[in-house]
Amino acid sequence: MPYKWPSDTDFALRELDFLDRACPACGRMMHICDHRYRRIHTLEGPVQLVCKLNHCPDPDCPGHAQTKSPEQEAMIAPPNWAIGWDVFCWIGHRRCSRHMSIPLIQSELLDDYAIKLSDDAIAKYIRRYQVMLAARQQDPQALRRQYESVDEIVLSIDGLQPEKGHETLYVVRELTQKRVWFAKPLISATADEVQRLIAQAKEWATSLNKTVSLWISDKQDAFVTGIAAEFPGVPHRYCDNHFLRDLAKPVLEADSHAKVQMRRKVRGLRKIEQAVLKRQNAEALTSLAQDDPTATVTVIVAPANAPAPEPDSAGTVVLDYCAAVRGILNNDQGGPLQPPGLLMAAALNEVRESIQRNLDAKKGGSQKSNSAVLPTASTGDWSMSKPSKRQSESTSRTSTRWPRPWNLEGRVASSGRRSSRS
Ligand SMILES: [Zn+2]
Repeated sequence: MPYKWPSDTDFALRELDFLDRACPACGRMMHICDHRYRRIHTLEGPVQLVCKLNHCPDPDCPGHAQTKSPEQEAMIAPPNWAIGWDVFCWIGHRRCSRHMSIPLIQSELLDDYAIKLSDDAIAKYIRRYQVMLAARQQDPQALRRQYESVDEIVLSIDGLQPEKGHETLYVVRELTQKRVWFAKPLISATADEVQRLIAQAKEWATSLNKTVSLWISDKQDAFVTGIAAEFPGVPHRYCDNHFLRDLAKPVLEADSHAKVQMRRKVRGLRKIEQAVLKRQNAEALTSLAQDDPTATVTVIVAPANAPAPEPDSAGTVVLDYCAAVRGILNNDQGGPLQPPGLLMAAALNEVRESIQRNLDAKKGGSQKSNSAVLPTASTGDWSMSKPSKRQSESTSRTSTRWPRPWNLEGRVASSGRRSSRS
């Protein structure tokens, strides 16, 4: 369907002359016999081409009946296209390099260049771009140029299914130049079919006159037999990605099991928190009662987790430890190379060491203080005790070397200073 231009389109005029005006049949100088007008989109705006048509003036010459178009026209846009090469390349690049969807290409063309194309027109240009790209990729001369400086090549083969249930696309790639050589969709992918692909790769390598030093794949049976048949003696190895992926599955399973175990062991946070909050509320109540007996009512109706006006600082540190541990237990970040369970274990260990440093500092400090031990969590060796206000001053010495977001030892130190002033 011809492209419909809005009536108010402002076209830039461009006249195209014939460069070589000799008649290809008899050599006489050709005459302009007609003009052809053509409108196209370019990235610089709409253009109207005025193509001067030529023919041989000699009525007896075969060049008389055939008109010739200016050579330059095909350099600007292929015949019958509504867009120039520049727009065509822009679309193809957005699609193939940036994987943009057709609606996105469509809207960007309209927003950035005021070029209005239908989605099926864009789809059609993309198909043509892919055909040209494939032809270019497989151009033997270009290939030879690229492989001039390469001594040995490394080939890989893999099948990928663009969507479930679709035929599998088998891709042969050359890894030293990171280049897709060719791809073929195979429905059944029998050993014979796969071997034909490998044989084709052999033809390419032979035509380039290069030695294949290595094959890499996921070692499916068809690849193993096919490569052994076509490339006897050439090593065939697992690809890193497949190897890691196969390894990752049992690792992640074991890791997730370890996570469950740790969560089962580290429990009782809520009990500790409730005990601290209860005591903080009671303390607040007492201090308020001393200041202003009428204010007690407000404290009683306040929710349990509301910040007490003057909380006991050690209790706050315990609550912060609980929040840190809860954060650690709920964190699921990570992957096969950084298993979340290992991260969890490392973080829990850091918390344990931090608590231990506080406890050690307490033992080294004043023994006269009345340290109130909070209810022990049901964690075996995971007990938390409350650093008291006076001892926390001595913990400040250990606080500087703990670069964690929940730098609780620092908090112990600062709260200690605060409370010692009061
Ligand atoms: Zn002629």
